[in-house]
Amino acid sequence: LTSETAALIAAEDEHLAHNYHPLPVVIARGEGAWVTDVEGRRYLDLLSAYSALNFGHSHPAIVAAAREQLGRLTLTSRAYHNDVLGSFATALAALCGKDLVLPMNTGAEAVETGIKVARAWAYRVKGVPADAASIVVAHGNFHGRTTTIVGFSDDPDARDGFGPFTPGFVSVPFGDAQAIEAAIDESTAAVLVEPIQGEAGVVIPPEGYLRAVREICTRRGVLFIADEIQSGLGRVGATFACDREDVVPDVYLLGKALGGGILPVSAVAADRDVLGVIRPGEHGSTFGGNPLASAVGLQVVRMLSTGEFQERASALGAHLEKALEELVGSGVTAVRVAGLWAGVDIDPAKGTGREIAEKLLARGVLVKDTHGQTIRIAPPLVVRGTELDWAVEQLRVVLAA
Ligand code: PLP
Repeated sequence: LTSETAALIAAEDEHLAHNYHPLPVVIARGEGAWVTDVEGRRYLDLLSAYSALNFGHSHPAIVAAAREQLGRLTLTSRAYHNDVLGSFATALAALCGKDLVLPMNTGAEAVETGIKVARAWAYRVKGVPADAASIVVAHGNFHGRTTTIVGFSDDPDARDGFGPFTPGFVSVPFGDAQAIEAAIDESTAAVLVEPIQGEAGVVIPPEGYLRAVREICTRRGVLFIADEIQSGLGRVGATFACDREDVVPDVYLLGKALGGGILPVSAVAADRDVLGVIRPGEHGSTFGGNPLASAVGLQVVRMLSTGEFQERASALGAHLEKALEELVGSGVTAVRVAGLWAGVDIDPAKGTGREIAEKLLARGVLVKDTHGQTIRIAPPLVVRGTELDWAVEQLRVVLAA
C-alpha cells in the first residue's frame, strides 16, 4: 500500500468503530461502472454498493435531478407538505401497481415499517388478539441490522450478543412453501421473505416457490411481504424479483437503488386496505419523504418506467451467466445467476472468498465476499458486456494461479 492509501486507512482504523472489514482500497471518484482510488488506479465496481448503485456512479440524470433540488429545497419534515413528494409517491405507487407508499430512508427502516403495518393490519383488519400477531420469516434471511430484525436472523454474527429480542417471529427453511403453510396459524399476520436471498449468497428459491407463497397467503388470509430492497428495481432483469414468477405480493419493501446511489431512500408500497391502517402519529421519520430524496427517487422511478434498465440486466445477465458457467470446475464450485446478479462459490482449494476478492482488487476488479466461500457479483446495470468479459477473465486468471 502506498503511503496515502495507508494513511487514509489508518485514519479510519483509528477513529471508526470496527463494524466492517473493508477491502484495502480508498475510492476517491466514481463514474458509471468504474471507480478511481486516491492513487489514480481504476477499478470496475462489481458490487454496486450492494445494488444501491444499479444506475452506476454519478448517473448524469440522477445527479442533475439532485442538483436542481439541492438549489431549491432539501428538507421540510412531514410537518409540512413539499412540492415533490406527491409526484414521487404517485410515480412509485404506479411502478409498484399499488395504491399507497410510505417513504423512509434505509432498508432496515422499510422492513421495520412493514412489520408495524402487518401487525396493525392483523389487529385492526384480521382481528388477531392484541399482541399475539406473528410473522413467518425464512432461514438465511437478511433484512437489516436493527434489534428487531437481527432477532429473527439465524446468522450468529448478526444476532449473537444483541438480545433480548422482539418476539413474534417464526423462521422456516427458505424455498420450502409447505413449511410456510405449516407455520401459519390464526395469529399469523404476514410472511416476510426476500424473493432471492442476497446476503445469503444470491440464493434463488426453486421455481414455483413465490407462486406457492402467494397462493398460501391468499388462502390463509396472511399478508405476503416481499423484501425487494436488494433484488428489486431492475437488478434481476425485471422491475421486481417477484415478476420472475408473475407474482404480486401484498407489500413491497424497497430501498437501496431507490436512492439512485446518492442518498438513502426506502419505501413500503401496498394497497389502501393494508397501508391505509397506519394513522397520523403512529409512524414516521424526520427525513422520510424529504424533497431531495423525493426528487432523486422520482428520477429513479422515471428511469425504471422505460424498462431499459430491466432489459439491460436481463441481456447482460445471460451473458455473465454463460461466462461464469465456464469457470465451474475450474476453481468455481457453483454459480447462481438472476439477471445481472450472481453468487459464485469458490473452491476452498483456491482460497476464501475474501482472498479471491483481494486478488481481484489487485487486478482492478471489485467484488465482495459473503459467507466465507461465496463472492457476489452485482455490477451497475450500465456496465458493458465487454467489461463483464474482462472482469470474468480476471477471475479466471486469479483462479488459475
Ligand atoms: N433487506 C435486504 C434484502 C437487504 O439486502 C438489506 C441490505 O443489505 C436490507 C434489507 C437493509 O438495508 P439497509 O442497509 O439500507 O438498512
